[in-house]
Amino acid sequence: MTTTLNHWINGVENEGASTRTSPVFNPARGEISTQVRLASTADVDAAVASAAAAFPAWRDASLAKRQSILFNFRELLNQRKGELADILTAEHGKVTADALGEIARGLEVVEFALGMPHLLKGDYSENVSTDVDVYTIRQALGVVGIISPFNFPAMVPLWYFPIAIAAGNTVVLKPSEKDPTAANWMAALMTEAGLPDGVLNVVHGDKEAVDALLEHPTVQAISFVGSTPIAKYIYETAAAHGKRVQALGGAKNHMLVLPDADLNLAADAAVNAGFGSAGERCMAISVIVAVEPVADELIERITARMAGLRVGDGMRGCDMGPLITEAHRDRVASYIDIAAADGATVVVDGRDVEADGEASGFWLGPTLFDRVSTDSAVYQDEIFGPVLSIVRVDSYEEGLQLINASRYGNGTAIFTNDGGAARRFQNEVQVGMVGINVPIPVPVAYHSFGGWKDSLFGDAKAYGPAGIAFFTREKAVTSRWLDPSHGGINLGFPQHD
Ligand code: NAD
Repeated sequence: MTTTLNHWINGVENEGASTRTSPVFNPARGEISTQVRLASTADVDAAVASAAAAFPAWRDASLAKRQSILFNFRELLNQRKGELADILTAEHGKVTADALGEIARGLEVVEFALGMPHLLKGDYSENVSTDVDVYTIRQALGVVGIISPFNFPAMVPLWYFPIAIAAGNTVVLKPSEKDPTAANWMAALMTEAGLPDGVLNVVHGDKEAVDALLEHPTVQAISFVGSTPIAKYIYETAAAHGKRVQALGGAKNHMLVLPDADLNLAADAAVNAGFGSAGERCMAISVIVAVEPVADELIERITARMAGLRVGDGMRGCDMGPLITEAHRDRVASYIDIAAADGATVVVDGRDVEADGEASGFWLGPTLFDRVSTDSAVYQDEIFGPVLSIVRVDSYEEGLQLINASRYGNGTAIFTNDGGAARRFQNEVQVGMVGINVPIPVPVAYHSFGGWKDSLFGDAKAYGPAGIAFFTREKAVTSRWLDPSHGGINLGFPQHD
């Protein structure tokens, strides 16, 4: 029996006016579990109106009050993360351990946002001129919109809404329509934690809802994470409507393995970062750049590890779950024929997988290609599935050049025991997040997350110091308290004395 997922507006479920819906699947079964409502412009207007009405009281709520609500949320989320993990596994497909990992990384941001009383402290300069002081304060923007992708239905919203809300903003979240239930679950938990109605609203939908948010005059800022073409569209459209915007896009992350690397460590890293979450991570490793002569030995170690991976229903303790939809599974699988046609060696063909789950699940096993040409679509496209490509090069320089020629610049990693080479790499590589013997270098919550080039549009990264800057406006106050004897007319430009 399928259920219908409503919007969450002003602290309660809301059916909205639109009659359009979209199916949500359990990808391990290939069955529809839920129909999610797709908002009309009028439904988005209602959510924005709710957030706008809540804003004046929320921005004036004390830092202590905002902090205590967020603290309650942190405690509740930690206690009940198992429930949320089950929702993630049921709708996204990722295995339970991975779902709990996603939640843990989201909780980190909640904990960072708990420091808001400290983080919002401004600067103060006493006596910049005689009896004149200058200080800065950081204030909330108003209503902000968050648009998130399918691959982290809990973590990506958690990158944004705890910081936005702790800073005094009110929020309209538009999660992915492919796995939307986690957003409602978190919004209800925020209400349980004591958040006033209207501070966090969820509208479900597709392009119509997104466009309504981008164009809405009340919405002050847009935070987006998703694929590159949509990120670019969001950046341009939101900016054209006068909003500040952060738009994080797609990726093609390379792992450079130097001949002196520990190949067991590199093989573990390649398998974990390539096939975790079925490769549906923006920080997944999708290309291994092997500096010869290591390729053959590395492939041997990677394939040995791949043979031990259990693919199946994420609730059954498997290593890797299904892909998000049938269409996406078929698209990812189509690259196997493309690889062969373009001259690559198909070392492991994931279509042969025997999954521990229903035959109707959206399965594709871990797949490995060798000798992939950089001209092939396999190399050029973001495949976003459990597919690793090996490109062989003859030197560090050749590998670096290849990585820097990519249109994407989200994450990268170098595996080596040579500190000088690693230091050179961190300096020379044109990528926003770099791992040194770390395959998925997602920065901790008190740094900021974001790529370069087509992996991020604009200059605003997510969470950490960049998150504070994004969700607040700085105001500089110049103040003088004088007795009346200091008055007088002077039309000259103010100078210091
Ligand atoms: P997507 O771009 O298809 O969707 C993202 C959001 O945009 C969803 O909420 C969706 O409803 C909305 N959307 C989709 N098409 C739209 C359109 N035409 N107009 C307006 N809105 C639209 O992305 P996805 O498939 O959900 O997520 C996977 C992508 O996200 C991958 O490319 C991945 O690399 C990227 N991603 C990037 C990061 C990062 O931090 N850079 C993190 C996670 C995911």
